[in-house]
This record gives sequence, C-alpha cells and structure tokens, in this order.
Amino acid sequence: MSGQPPAHIVIVGGGTAGWMAANLLARRWGGPQRPRCKISVLESAEIGIIGVGEGSTPFLRQFFQLLGVAEHEWMPACNATYKSGIRFPDWSTVPGYESYVHPFFNEQDRVTGTEFFLNACLRRRGAAADANPQDFFIAAALARACKAPVLPPDPQGRPQLQTDYAYHFDAALLGQFLRRHALSLGVVHKVDTVLGVQLAENGDIASLQLQGGAQLAGDFFIDCSGFKGLLINEALGEPFISYKDNLFNDRAIALPTALNPAADIPSETVSRALRHGWAWQIPLSSRYGNGYVYASDFVSDEEAELELRRLLGPAAEHSEARRLKMRVGRVERHWRNNCLALGLSQGFIEPLEATALMLIQLSLFNFMELFERAGFGRQQQGLFNQRINKMFEGVRDYVVAHYHLNTRRDSDYWRANRAHHHISNRLASILEVWDGGGDFEAELSRHGDALMYLRPSWYCLLAGMGRFPAELRPLDRPRLSGAQARAATEALVREQFPSHRQQLVALAEA
Ligand SMILES: Cc1cc2nc3c(=O)[nH]c(=O)nc-3n(C[C@H](O)[C@H](O)[C@H](O)COP(=O)(O)OP(=O)(O)OC[C@H]3O[C@@H](n4cnc5c(N)ncnc54)[C@H](O)[C@@H]3O)c2cc1C
Repeated sequence: MSGQPPAHIVIVGGGTAGWMAANLLARRWGGPQRPRCKISVLESAEIGIIGVGEGSTPFLRQFFQLLGVAEHEWMPACNATYKSGIRFPDWSTVPGYESYVHPFFNEQDRVTGTEFFLNACLRRRGAAADANPQDFFIAAALARACKAPVLPPDPQGRPQLQTDYAYHFDAALLGQFLRRHALSLGVVHKVDTVLGVQLAENGDIASLQLQGGAQLAGDFFIDCSGFKGLLINEALGEPFISYKDNLFNDRAIALPTALNPAADIPSETVSRALRHGWAWQIPLSSRYGNGYVYASDFVSDEEAELELRRLLGPAAEHSEARRLKMRVGRVERHWRNNCLALGLSQGFIEPLEATALMLIQLSLFNFMELFERAGFGRQQQGLFNQRINKMFEGVRDYVVAHYHLNTRRDSDYWRANRAHHHISNRLASILEVWDGGGDFEAELSRHGDALMYLRPSWYCLLAGMGRFPAELRPLDRPRLSGAQARAATEALVREQFPSHRQQLVALAEA
C-alpha cells in the first residue's frame, strides 16, 4: 500500500453512515491488532439521527460478510427481515401491468426469466406475449407466499444454487449494533456537538470546536452529519447539485404500524403510488415501517398525512407521524481536501430503490482503494469524485425512469412527472431504443457500468410498467404465458423455500 492510512480519522456523525464507515475503516485500517490508524466517531446528543432507512439492496450482505458478522448475530438484534424484492402497485394503469415487481434474481430464475426477456422483446415489437415480471421471477413468488429467500442447507452438503436478496431492518437498532461492533474493533466514541470548524491555510480541516470546550484535531475528517453537510457544505463550501428538476419529492412522513405476531411476514417492500408520490411499507419482525414520500410543490404536509392515514386505515389510528424534509441531489465533490462526505451529507436519491446504504458502502470501498494507491493525491481525489458522481447519476436515471414511465392521470404531480424534459440524454436514448423496437441489448451495453442497474432490472422496469405498443398482434407461435410462469415459480417456491417467519425464528434461536 503506497498511501498509508491517516493517523487519526475523525468521523462526525453517529447515524448509519458514520457507523458503517467506522466499521469498514477499522476492519481494514485500524483495530487493536492493527493500530495503524486511530478512528473516532463524534455524535451529538442533541441532534438525532434521521432514523428512517429500513430497506437495503443486496450489497448489505457483502458489508456484513466483510465484517465477519453472521445473519444470526445481527438480524434478530435489529428486528431484521429478508427482502426478496420491491413491488410497485399503481404506478401504471396499463391493463395487466397495474402492479409489477423489481426482483432480486435467483440462479433458478434461468428458465422462466429467459422466457420473460424474450416475451418482453416480442411485446415491445408489437406481439401479444405476456411480460409482467411479477409472473416470471422466483422473488415475486417468494413474496406472495411469505417465504424467505434462503435455501436450507443441502443434507448432503452439496453447493447451493445462489439466491440474491437484501434486508429490512430497524434503522435505530442497526445503528446501535454497528456502534457496538465498531467499539469492539477499537473505534473511539465521543458524544459532543460541533460548534465550529477551524481550517488550515491550505483549506484542510484542522480541528473541530466542541460545545464541551475541547478542540478535536484530526488528520482526515469524514462528514456523516446528515442533510446539513456540516463539514463538506457549511465549512468547506462545497456546492450542492439539486436533482429537483427531475426528482420532485422533497418530503416524507414516517408512520409505523403494528405487525400481527402470529401472522406470516411478507418478504418484500411495497412501494405504492399515491396521488402525490408513493408510500412504502416495510415489514420488520416487530412492526411495519410505513411512510409517504411526496413533493411539497404539489401537496401540503397535512394533506399528505391524511392520504397516508387513509391508506393505512385503523392500523395507524394511534401512531404518531414523523415529518421529514429531504435534500435530493449530491455534492459536486464528495472528497475535498482532507474531508470525505458520506451518507446524507454527500447526497441522497430519494428512497424508491433503497440505495442510500449501498452508495455509502461503494463510496467507502472506492475511497479506501484509491487512498491506498496514492494517499492524498489530487489525481486520486478527481478519480474518486468522478466514479461516485457516475454512480449517483446512474441510480438517479433508474429512479427517474419510474416516474417518467407512469401512466396515472389523477393529479398534476403524475402528469408533470411524465411531461418534463429534464431526463438525461442517456435515459432518453434508452427509452427511444426500447420504444422503437431497436437493439436494446446493444443500447444497454453501450452505456456500460455507468448504468448502475443491470439489464434484468431495466427489463423489469420497462416491461413492468407496461411500456409497450397499445395495439398488439397475436403471437405467431405460443409462448410461456404469465399464468404458466407463475405456476412454475410458485411450485418451486412451495417445495424448496422455508416460511419467512420460521426462518427468522430459527435465526433468533441460533
Ligand atoms: C424518508 C427516507 C427514507 C429512507 N429510506 C431508505 C432506505 O430504505 N434505504 C436506504 O438505504 N436509505 C434510506 N434512506 C437514507 C438513510 O436513512 C440514510 O442514508 C442513512 O440513515 C444515513 O444517514 P446519515 O448517517 O448520513 O445521517 P443521520 O442519520 O442524519 O445522522 C447524522 C449524525 O450527525 C450527527 N451530527 C449532526 N450535526 C452534528 C454536530 N453539529 N455535532 C456533532 N454531531 C452532529 C448527529 O448526531 C447524527 O448522529 C432514507 C432516508 C429518508 C429521508
């Protein structure tokens, strides 16, 4: 390693971003066994964490694997459940496509999944093949049956077919778990509030002025202070680039409800379109996390809360709602001088695809890799910022596509989402090729890893929303129908996968 880790890294913020960073850095650069670098986490007792963010992508599995923490160690402690995908009801009004699924993919999807891609290609070229992903993928069948996306160990010890999945969890409990784990790796925890930031002549951060009177000096600072960007924006003045012109949502309301302790637990996130945004429902082992993400330009907080309460019904009668403001976009440079911004301080793409923790993790991996190559080099910083901006833009395009493809006619919000022209050239080109029946595979390949989402995800989104010609001709020869695919995936799920609740009980008892 040519870039030696900084002697003292100060992480400002004890939310999920701060503790994820502390764990990964301690694992790679610090810890009592390898005291190359001291890592401190500073959090304020007066300024709370955002406390939402209860769904992940499959990247979180890799995070815990890297830490060497098994599911039975962290999942019960965080009331966590398995997530096999996300269901999107009411985004589209196209008959047969009023609800669709963005699944995590399984090796056993090969047969019905291949049929889905062929059917989707035929349908976008005008043939009446069935192509709603919720019929063709095992993840959707798992969610319908409230099964866990994990295969029990093979009795003969043969290698398992791979299933991909993610998690739901209680954000506050996850923070506490990660804090305990980071402390066990030698991370130092301080509770105080930053009142001021002293800069050195070269623009680096020299130290933090704390409310308790002390100065906290460091060699490198990680800004995990949440939406305000205490170090990156307020102290260093890094500009923030808003995504407001193509992602309208800037508010959220969170409202938990009870979960029947005897009933099956769904293994999917539901993201249902409402009149001015969308509502999430996330099953934990202890409760449901619910919320409404909406745009303040189109609806008041009071009206939005009423709409969410109407959706949830009596279950929400005694629950208190939390109202949140969201800053959607990203900083221009995530790494500047001796400061790295991570989590909400670096940027946020609204939570439709639950990508925030993934972006934190990928930012950290890239940072550690490039830092190890050449330390504080300007070139490394430039390369890092380019890579992370590319990731943000890739995720943004995929999320924007959900809104752009909607066919709802019940509010100005949905009409405006469809009508605006602020989509990127890349997204415009993808849609043009899909709609025009052109070579979609070549189009996706042309954009390479800048897309962030791979081919199956794009197919599921475009086909799932029913983005097909209105007039369809009969098929030349029969294809696998949605009903046949559904029967096949459901049979497989019935035979092979355990009940979600039973699997969670087994983890708690392990
Ligand atoms: C509505 C909503 C839904 C979301 N859903 C998802 C999801 O499903 N999946 C997902 O991956 N992400 C989701 N997110 C994002 C996710 O919640 C965050 O990315 C994650 O919680 C990380 O937050 P953070 O640690 O950056 O900030 P925060 O949790 O806000 O933590 C900020 C920390 O900074 C400290 N701090 C602030 N000021 C000072 C100061 N002056 N001195 C000392 N300390 C200070 C605070 O004490 C706190 O510890 C969602 C976000 C929102 C708003």
